[in-house]
Amino acid sequence: MATGKINVSVENIFPLIKKFLYSDHEIFLRELVSNATDATLKLKHLTAIGEAKVEYGNPIIEIKVDKEGKKIHVIDQGLGMTEEEVQKYINEVAFSGAEEFLDKYKDSAKDSGIIGHFGLGFYSAFMVAEKVEIITKSFKDEPAAHWTCDGSPNFTLEASDKKERGTEIILHVAEDSLEFLEEAKIGGLLEKYNKFMPIPIKFGTKTETLPKPEDAKEEDPAPTQEVDNIINNPTPAWTKQPADLKEEDYKGFYRELYPMQFEDPLFNIHLNVDYPFNLTGILYFPKLSQDLNVQKDRIQLYQNQVFVTDNVEGIVPEFLTMLRGVIDSPDIPLNVSRSYLQADGAVKKISSYITRKVADKLNSIFKNNREDLEAKWNDIKIVIEYGMLSEEKFFEKADKFALYPTVDGAFYTFEELQEKLKPAHTDKDNKLVILYASNKEEQHSYIEAAKAKGLEVLLLDSPIISHLMQKLETSKENISFARVDADHLDNLIKKEDAQISKLSDEEKETLKTDIETAINNKSYTIQLEAMDSDASPFMITEPEFLRRMKEMQQTGGGGMFGMGNMPEM
Ligand code: ADP
Ligand code: MG
Repeated sequence: MATGKINVSVENIFPLIKKFLYSDHEIFLRELVSNATDATLKLKHLTAIGEAKVEYGNPIIEIKVDKEGKKIHVIDQGLGMTEEEVQKYINEVAFSGAEEFLDKYKDSAKDSGIIGHFGLGFYSAFMVAEKVEIITKSFKDEPAAHWTCDGSPNFTLEASDKKERGTEIILHVAEDSLEFLEEAKIGGLLEKYNKFMPIPIKFGTKTETLPKPEDAKEEDPAPTQEVDNIINNPTPAWTKQPADLKEEDYKGFYRELYPMQFEDPLFNIHLNVDYPFNLTGILYFPKLSQDLNVQKDRIQLYQNQVFVTDNVEGIVPEFLTMLRGVIDSPDIPLNVSRSYLQADGAVKKISSYITRKVADKLNSIFKNNREDLEAKWNDIKIVIEYGMLSEEKFFEKADKFALYPTVDGAFYTFEELQEKLKPAHTDKDNKLVILYASNKEEQHSYIEAAKAKGLEVLLLDSPIISHLMQKLETSKENISFARVDADHLDNLIKKEDAQISKLSDEEKETLKTDIETAINNKSYTIQLEAMDSDASPFMITEPEFLRRMKEMQQTGGGGMFGMGNMPEM
């Protein structure tokens, strides 16, 4: 048996790691399962290229919880390590990794700006264990090794009689971490971090019901058998080629990701790029919902099928954080703060790639299946309008497929709208006035009056629409929006035989004063002459600019609006 002293300057790394990573202890399991996965995939590669002359077989990873013995076992059938390799990879690599980590993050690890992926690796086992053992047998024809360490720089390394290839890590769980001996706790962590890892992960067994034999009687119970409880799907949809997936597969994967979502997603976007960065994933447009809980189902970020975080702020543009789905990229630097992330060149490229893919997908639906886009427009418009406001590149693309519905259920692009509205909507200054209603019921009589004049009225009712109208008015020439009940309407509607006009001037003045007193709001103008319908003998208007200003204040003023002001989806 060999004993030795690990060559690190930090005297006892164990308490330090505990201290600095206090909030994130649970990632130890993800790190160990990742190592087990790596070891298995390495063996797969070595057998494939003929360097390891052993049978690869169907290796799995097993997690066992021994509550009585206060131990957690992580067992793999990967390439294993020789004694020499344990010296090198554990005592040198793993420890130096941990030491480097501490050096780098001593002061900042508690800073909430750091993303929850520390890459601490093997050594994170000491966040929950007071003693760790490694029993490992290499695929090479060499005796197995047994390493033990209590987190101090002192370790022991001796021969072991382990016969099967692979590695078993045994954590002796510390008194303050006994919660990790609960099966439900470990099950929950596996579900969170390892649900889509590429090697099957066994956690206990489960009872499976078999079909009844032909000669079974009605009252006979169906036979059952105990089978491995495999907690992951090693080949999730996003790792496959879009050509191999059908609509049903995308919907099925959505339910796999969000088991509590019963509503089908509206559209999906498959991301797949390997140059100049590597990124795969599937994004979904969810159906709009008032349910506040839904916000919890967010886009999940993975690295090589290992869950990292569901906070993708800074990685995808803000307007797309309203989508759901998965992004998997090994090229996103994670040991950094959010602000660094946002400034990172690679991340910027990733973000603009995602924006472009989303725009392209919507454009192709617009071109190939416009009816579908129209049918779902009201459920997705808020995301698109928000994107048009916040990302100039997205605006340029979306301007071609963004739809503007009329009160009668037709949908126009902006270009179509301009063609359609000319010349009836051109005012005396030769400006195209686009009439809209924000509420069909409340503005019913105004809508009817405009329609009676042969005018077209849009139905624009999303909460950020005034910002978008402002943007369209400044980026397009000679257009303006006016709500049906705004004073602009006056310029368009020709006053013909309005009933009111039959009153004498004196009668009109009295009527006007009476109405003004009743309304008691100086920002409204009473226009007795504007309408001729029997149902609405007069009109009350508010200047467009005034009303819009109020609205914009409500949705966050002139600056960019934080998500806090966005409606829940
Ligand atoms: P990393 O995984 O980033 O290399 P770790 O600290 O997690 O760093 O692991 C250090 C090294 O220990 C690994 O690179 C690998 O060589 C070795 N190792 C860890 N776990 C296993 C395992 N289950 N089987 C074989 N080798 C392992
Ligand atoms: Mg590792």
